[in-house]
Amino acid sequence: MSMSIISLDAVKDHLPNDAPAEYLKPMSAEGYTPSHTGFHVVFSSAANGSESFSSKLVADRAFAPGERLALLDNKSLAPVKAYSSVQFGNGPDDHLELNSDILFKMYLYPGAPGRWEVVAGPRGLSAGQDITFFYPSTEWDMAQGFDCSCGAKTCLGHVYGAAHLTLEELEARGLVNEHIRAAKAAQAATIRANKAKAASVANGVNGVVNVNGAANGVH
Ligand SMILES: [Zn+2]
Repeated sequence: MSMSIISLDAVKDHLPNDAPAEYLKPMSAEGYTPSHTGFHVVFSSAANGSESFSSKLVADRAFAPGERLALLDNKSLAPVKAYSSVQFGNGPDDHLELNSDILFKMYLYPGAPGRWEVVAGPRGLSAGQDITFFYPSTEWDMAQGFDCSCGAKTCLGHVYGAAHLTLEELEARGLVNEHIRAAKAAQAATIRANKAKAASVANGVNGVVNVNGAANGVH
């Protein structure tokens, strides 16, 4: 699935510091009520206390490509960038918490400009399918990359964030958020500028050599 995120600074001012509705991350099936219709958490049976790590989100019904799975209507500004937070802009504090079952996005991927929502990826979802998330669609540079086991043909294997992929690689996997496109454009401009600088330094060195060569020639 993909998530649509707005990247306007003005938007951040409207994000509450606390979730509009209290959300306690469920840790087991006991007493669990899904936060949304259309998908739910399947809890792993691991009994060592790390169960939530391998719990997953599963679709209750089919979703067409691009169809909305959920509005991010209980989001809040993230106090710190965390495993559970989602990047919505390119400022140091542009991270939000979902405060809903969507945080069980095993390998989550966010998505379309101007809307706070999660949408199905380019192949859609079938009923009963595990919901995965394309992290680089919102995350620029992940402090701790991870080995992905989503099983998709287009799986990257190791996920580090959009900074480490080409725009073509991102677009091939679905929705690319505006802030990621902007960061990608800035990255390309920096690379071009560095190349130009390196070329001019090389030319300068050549120029010195040529001058010396000419001087040597004169002598
Ligand atoms: Zn994968």
